[in-house]
Amino acid sequence: MSYLANADRYHSMQYRRCGKSGLKLPALSLGLWHNFGAIDDYEKCRKIIHAAFDNGITHFDLANNYGPPPGAAEETFGKIFRQDLKTYRDEIIVSSKAGFGMWPGPYGDWGSKKYLVASLDQSLKRMGLDYVDIFYHHRPDPNTPLEETMGALDLIVRQGKALYVGISNYSAEETQKAIEVLNSLGTPLLIHQAKYSMLVRWVEEGLLDVLDKNGVGCIAFSSLAQGILTNKYLNGIPADSRAASTRGNGALEKNGLTEKIINKVRGMNEIAQLRGQNMAQMALSWILKDQRMTSLIIGASKPDQVSDSIQCLKNYNFSPAELDSIENALK
Ligand code: NDP
Repeated sequence: MSYLANADRYHSMQYRRCGKSGLKLPALSLGLWHNFGAIDDYEKCRKIIHAAFDNGITHFDLANNYGPPPGAAEETFGKIFRQDLKTYRDEIIVSSKAGFGMWPGPYGDWGSKKYLVASLDQSLKRMGLDYVDIFYHHRPDPNTPLEETMGALDLIVRQGKALYVGISNYSAEETQKAIEVLNSLGTPLLIHQAKYSMLVRWVEEGLLDVLDKNGVGCIAFSSLAQGILTNKYLNGIPADSRAASTRGNGALEKNGLTEKIINKVRGMNEIAQLRGQNMAQMALSWILKDQRMTSLIIGASKPDQVSDSIQCLKNYNFSPAELDSIENALK
């Protein structure tokens, strides 16, 4: 079946400016870390991508190592892109990253110029793209000079292989330094990609201030804590859930679902119901209440999860009483 995008796709999505750049991103983006590997059903992958784009999700987030096996998510995306999205290329923002181990030997990991340039070339081939919109350094490298890693990002932009650059998992202090180096090179930092959810709050302790002060955007990942911040684990572990899978590569495992965490989710689920939302929607709208957040990247194993999560945009304002109740439930 050929794909024709929903003509109404820009109707309900909200687009937020990324820092002080010219680029706007959808409040919800779609990530392909899990559910798009060689082990996943291709037609289902296609449907998830269609559900996203049909609802105004114009941003697809990848990395060299997403799969399994590493590289497979970029291959799956490339296949879907060629089959369904090619004519929409100028309506789509694709990001990829390098920073984790990809190939043997001293040039397949971390943050050298050698690794980053070679890795992006491989990613472009796998996806069948001439350029990515955003290229990230995936994690800080304590053993490579920051000037070299940022120099590689600057080079990649000058080569036309990426339009913008980002960093991920850098601390507030490392981010400030990266911003300064990139500014001196003339390729400003567009965005920081950070783990942020009701259960993981480190960005509130300095990073968001650094980004705001410097006009850099912020995009959150794992805002559902890989599915913990939904109502799916309140009565056990469903067979088709991530926690029941044995995907590896950092995927949620059963031992991540302690009684203590599930009890917190139970408390928050009641608050969500009072707000007319389900747990997942409240967890996502809680992130978007902060206008410094440009976007958040959802993951999805089914197309319906995309449509369900998008409903969070209907209510991302929280009263002080609601915020207090959430803090209490989290204690
Ligand atoms: P989430 O926290 O959004 O978890 C996604 C999972 O939550 C889904 O697979 C699904 O689980 C469940 N889910 C999603 N929507 C719903 C819903 N509406 N109702 C019920 N369950 C739902 O995100 P991820 O941890 O998957 O990360 C998202 C993206 O962030 C990644 O794909 C990647 O692009 C990026 N990322 C970046 C990292 C970095 O270091 N820069 C690290 C990790 C992620 P189930 O499979 O059980 O159905």
